[in-house]
Amino acid sequence: MTSIPILKERESQIWQKGETPFSITCDKHSLAGAISQRACVFCGSRVVLYPIADAVHLVHGPIGCAAYTWDIRGALSSGPELHRLSFSTDLQERDVIFGGEKKLAAVLGELIDRHRPKAAFVYSTCIVGIIGDDVAAVCRKVEREKGIPVLPVHSEGFKGTKKDGYKAACDALFRIIGTGPINDISPQSINILGEFNIGGEAWIIRKYYERMGVQVVSVMTGDGRVDEIRRAHGAALNVVQCSGSMTQLAQMMEEKYGIPHIRVSYFGIEDMSKALYDVAERFPDNPEIMARTREMVREEIAAIRPELAEFRKDLEGKKAAIYVGGAFKAFSLIKALRHLGMRVILAGSQTGNDEDYEMLRDLCDDGTVIVDDANPLELSKYIIEKDADLVIGGVKERPIAYKMGVGFCDHNHERKIPLAGYVGMRNFAEEVHRSVSSPVWRFAPRRGAKLEKTEVTPC
Ligand code: SF4
Repeated sequence: MTSIPILKERESQIWQKGETPFSITCDKHSLAGAISQRACVFCGSRVVLYPIADAVHLVHGPIGCAAYTWDIRGALSSGPELHRLSFSTDLQERDVIFGGEKKLAAVLGELIDRHRPKAAFVYSTCIVGIIGDDVAAVCRKVEREKGIPVLPVHSEGFKGTKKDGYKAACDALFRIIGTGPINDISPQSINILGEFNIGGEAWIIRKYYERMGVQVVSVMTGDGRVDEIRRAHGAALNVVQCSGSMTQLAQMMEEKYGIPHIRVSYFGIEDMSKALYDVAERFPDNPEIMARTREMVREEIAAIRPELAEFRKDLEGKKAAIYVGGAFKAFSLIKALRHLGMRVILAGSQTGNDEDYEMLRDLCDDGTVIVDDANPLELSKYIIEKDADLVIGGVKERPIAYKMGVGFCDHNHERKIPLAGYVGMRNFAEEVHRSVSSPVWRFAPRRGAKLEKTEVTPC
């Protein structure tokens, strides 16, 4: 079989460890025509803000943009579920010609009257940037009339990369932080940033911190509530997961409110434990917190270790390709897969920066391909050439894996089971095991199976 070629202009964003000195370009706009796997600016802001469950999320644009968001994500709420509805101004030709501001004001007013949300987020999409609606002015006017925060999210899809969407979301959150009371907040308190409660993960993580004796002031944004976010400036520490999306907010809070931040990951035994110890270390005045953390980590690891050992027996030596949004998640996945005896043959991300890729270089084995802002062709090439047994990615990588005839594990916002925390590591191992060991792959053409001709009996 001839090798699948790479587009010349994409070559500098792909590097194979051990071949040449390290060099990879990143943090740039996707190559036109390359069919990038990367999501648009609007999507970046939507994934960050969407889990706030008592706010209205209004997509100002054509209905197509909103279709992407309608209840496909696994962010759970313990109370209101407004976030599961997808509202759109449904801009038509007439609005594009004459402007959509009046329609936006009318829709916002109607939604706020009907649903009584704690806040409203208004997302600008590509066409809104082109026709030049003054979304901020409309939001200010409705905010005055209705008495709740109405926040413009400047997320016109074409104006940058998914990272610019994260920034737009952080700007919107920053506007409501600092507007709530903080008198009852403990000195041993944190905000959890970049945790979106997929399959209930924020609940698992929150419980760990509470068992340690640390107060969680707000989670941004999993199972999010506007009133909690308003109080976030009262916490002693910001703990940032999904660093690509929320580091900017943590930096803004550090500058304005003097709250320090640390970067953590909740995936895999090693990183989960490190996250808890790193937080405990921040409260040296209360040694009980560290003592409780040690005890809890011991208990949790002991509970899952026997099952992990069973899964490992079948997974030893299997090969995985990882393609995720933020590179930080890839680090944890590489370590988690090593726990299961698996090797990573490709590691890539949509939004990694120089520092992320240097860390990936150090973490990966020789022969691993590192790729920034990949497209389906590149992923297919390495899945075939490196003979992967498993792909870990999101909704856009799933069909690629299945077409290539390999197992798949969804590690993105669309999944329904928690993969964070110790229980999440157990779930991850089970899902990887189930998919990799499925007998169905024996019938995939890439595995050399010849599909037998089926006799069809005419009725
Ligand atoms: S790229 Fe533009 S048109 Fe497409 S979903 Fe994003 S905002 Fe909407």
